[in-house]
Amino acid sequence: MPETLCRSCGTELRPKSSCELCGVTLNMVCPGCGNFTDDMVHLDCVLARRLLALSSSSSSSSMTTTAAG
Ligand SMILES: [Zn+2]
Ligand SMILES: [Zn+2]
Repeated sequence: MPETLCRSCGTELRPKSSCELCGVTLNMVCPGCGNFTDDMVHLDCVLARRLLALSSSSSSSSMTTTAAG
């Protein structure tokens, strides 16, 4: 049972967005009044995503063999 309730109307908050890497909820939104909590930032996940983006764009070098005849 979530223990996060809206401070304005007391409605049970719902997850607004979650971390794409670890799946933890980053911020909550109130379905009653639309109030939402502050966004949390996962520094470790942000850094990991940057590393993944860098590693994905790797230049592939094609080796050409010349047969000396
Ligand atoms: Zn995360
Ligand atoms: Zn509310």
